[in-house]
Amino acid sequence: MNHRILKTIGLRALFFMVAGLLSAGAINADYARAEKIPSPLPPFSSRGLFVPETIWAGEPFLISFGAEGLRSLEVIWNGKRLAFAPQAGEETCPVLLAVSLTEKAASLPLILQARWTDGTTRRYAYRLSVRKRNYPVQRITVDAKYVTPPEEERERIKRERAQLRAVIDRISPARYWSLPMLRPVPGEVTSRYGLRRVINGQERAPHKGVDFDANEGDPVAAMDRGVVALTAEHYYNGKIVIVDHGFGVYSLYLHLSDIAVKQGQFVGRGERIGLIGSTGRSTGPHLHLSFAVWGDMVDGATCMGERLPGYIPGVKEQSSDEKAKRQL
Ligand SMILES: [Zn+2]
Repeated sequence: MNHRILKTIGLRALFFMVAGLLSAGAINADYARAEKIPSPLPPFSSRGLFVPETIWAGEPFLISFGAEGLRSLEVIWNGKRLAFAPQAGEETCPVLLAVSLTEKAASLPLILQARWTDGTTRRYAYRLSVRKRNYPVQRITVDAKYVTPPEEERERIKRERAQLRAVIDRISPARYWSLPMLRPVPGEVTSRYGLRRVINGQERAPHKGVDFDANEGDPVAAMDRGVVALTAEHYYNGKIVIVDHGFGVYSLYLHLSDIAVKQGQFVGRGERIGLIGSTGRSTGPHLHLSFAVWGDMVDGATCMGERLPGYIPGVKEQSSDEKAKRQL
């Protein structure tokens, strides 16, 4: 083999390397886009301590502590101090925490205090860095009464807001959830969490829920086991069901046409809690799913263990077809 051939092979190798780098670059660009959408939370580990280094504003995150003889785990987070115990027959204590969509801090402290059955205690301190996603703007047109509610409805709206807040601020000591949780309806996401909304030309609060495509009368399934904490009919939310999954985790199902459960009732994972509708401030039949963790409305899609259609980069989030119009 002469020098010239070697050189050609060398150049070819270089060409392939560059081609390889280019396609790797294209993949990296995809990843960069994908990184802006929530990834499903990892399943909780059976042993050891799991705490993420980075968390995202508006998204729940998981911490998990598993140790032989663990009696309780005290969590100090975001101005709250709460103690959790492993459930019967378990030695792992998973806790969902969250940071609000409007969080300004670049990092937040997390303190854990573990207590064992023999009385030993240990304290762990962390600083979690808080990152923000770039949420797109969404423009919607609705009936004027839902942008500026009539005077006589203001009191009602205030009362309902307080009622909802009182429910989701409560932290129940039993954990009924596990990860991943179920998707409540099979349809695509037509409006994802966090979209910055301009309604009838006016800037409004961002979308603090996930809208799923569905048809009037379709069944709505509970994301996991839990206790029905509230059934009501609200001005904005329409017919609503709130399920308490324990440890401060709630799922809220809005705009229903029918409610199939009673307050205080225990529901199973996937159990029908009502039917799809368009009650309250809604532009057509769909499910608006809200998800609350320790009183913050965060992105429930993160707990579903799958990259939902509508969250996948490259798939249009806002199309102009009829289905995409059914939201709020
Ligand atoms: Zn919505």
